[in-house]
Amino acid sequence: MLDVAGGGEGSDVAVRNPATSEVVATVHAASEREVDEAVARAARASGSWREMAPGDRARLLRRFADAVDGHREELAQLEVANAGHVVGNARAEAEHVRDVLEFSSGFPERLSGRQIPVGGGVSLTFHEPLGVVGVIVPWNFPMVIASWGVGPALAAGNTVVLKPAELTPLSALRLGELALEAGLPEGVLQVVTGSGAVVGWRFVTHPAVRKVCFTGSTEVGRKIMAGCAEQVKRVTLELGGKSANIVFADADVARAAEEAPVGVFDNAGQDCCARSRILVQRTVYERFMEKLGPAVERIRVGDPGDEDTQMGPLISESHRRAVASFVSPDQAVAARGRVPEGPGYWFPPTVLAPVDPSSRAVTEEIFGPVAVVIPFDDEAEAVRVANDTPYGLSGSIWTRDVGRALRMARAVQTGNLSVNSHSSVRYWTPFGGTKQSGIGRELGPDAAVPFTEEKTVFIATDG
Ligand code: NAP
Ligand code: MG
Repeated sequence: MLDVAGGGEGSDVAVRNPATSEVVATVHAASEREVDEAVARAARASGSWREMAPGDRARLLRRFADAVDGHREELAQLEVANAGHVVGNARAEAEHVRDVLEFSSGFPERLSGRQIPVGGGVSLTFHEPLGVVGVIVPWNFPMVIASWGVGPALAAGNTVVLKPAELTPLSALRLGELALEAGLPEGVLQVVTGSGAVVGWRFVTHPAVRKVCFTGSTEVGRKIMAGCAEQVKRVTLELGGKSANIVFADADVARAAEEAPVGVFDNAGQDCCARSRILVQRTVYERFMEKLGPAVERIRVGDPGDEDTQMGPLISESHRRAVASFVSPDQAVAARGRVPEGPGYWFPPTVLAPVDPSSRAVTEEIFGPVAVVIPFDDEAEAVRVANDTPYGLSGSIWTRDVGRALRMARAVQTGNLSVNSHSSVRYWTPFGGTKQSGIGRELGPDAAVPFTEEKTVFIATDG
């Protein structure tokens, strides 16, 4: 059992393995005063970090990436034990964190300003760092989402206070140690564990925190945005989703059906990009369902540390109950997988059809392994149903018609889409939501820019 309880005045919190419900660590929950101390350290570290030559900051970020690379397996095992991620995914996540840091190390030397034609002098722009940035992370992809904020924010010359979710702090704590081992100065990246209401909210209210980069539920995101408005504080929000997977009759229907489970049940459906509404053109509905059923029943649910497992447990007992509440006893179940017996927060991959379009399972984000299937007649109806949600994060379109793929891709209101695929996140392409799925973009070629202010300087040349 790992003991990272920090002393101090806040209380300690037990952290569990969701596959066994056993306590795997005790972690300190910081008090508001401890958050203030961390922010003060971050503010003190900010001066020398922003003044550091870009090449030196880049080199330290590369060393941080190397440290992650050298501890990939350890980080992956922490995500297996604390978040219930299947080990293959967890390894890919550790590599992703390394790559985000490596990619971010390219920013310090590339954050170029502009020279704009003016009379009587020159106008130059600079991308100035903001100062201290607060990054708030959910439990579903703990280290991956931490890296999306941390890498670009540090690269742009900010110092960072990082708050992992109370349920899943272990990989973030290890990343904080690796940053120090890699040579990042004290105070440049601090991991502050504790509750959202205390630690996360203090990032919102503390005047020295100049930006909050939040990933989590739309409900909390709304509060964060309102709280940040008090100080006109910069904010990036990556929130919930209810994405559509739209399958047309002209697609490779068998492949679309085989791959539909991957698009929604990966990470046990605890994925903001989960394609949890499967829209199928009516003429191929039966054919699609015939293939989908066995594909769902074949999913191997079990010990996430086992190399053959495809789906692990849900994060907590209360989340398991919340997910179960979406499957009412009178709801028709078209396909259902199996789960292990015994301890752990298990829920089987479940496909609901036919569904009442006004039911909670259709309208709300479930964030678990439950999908609904909805038939449609034509493109116009597919667009209407896909957009009939306050969310707009992700989605997929299956068709062999290039024109239709492009028409649909432009018409579906969402931040990220894939055609004949369920991929959505690459660290070198922008990621984020439309509508109530968020505001701002992370990752991609411009990832560091939202962690800066553009400053315009006019220099007179006439004497
Ligand atoms: P959540 O309840 O909103 O929590 C997210 C983070 O915010 C946690 O660290 C939480 O801390 C903290 N928090 C809670 N209340 C807060 C407050 N009043 N002030 C400041 N911070 C606060 O979300 P979740 O249940 O962990 O995660 C699931 C949600 O995240 C889903 O809706 C999902 O769609 C969304 N998500 C979105 C993306 C994306 O990129 N768009 C990615 C992943 C997940 P504690 O939990 O420790 O109290
Ligand atoms: Mg929550």
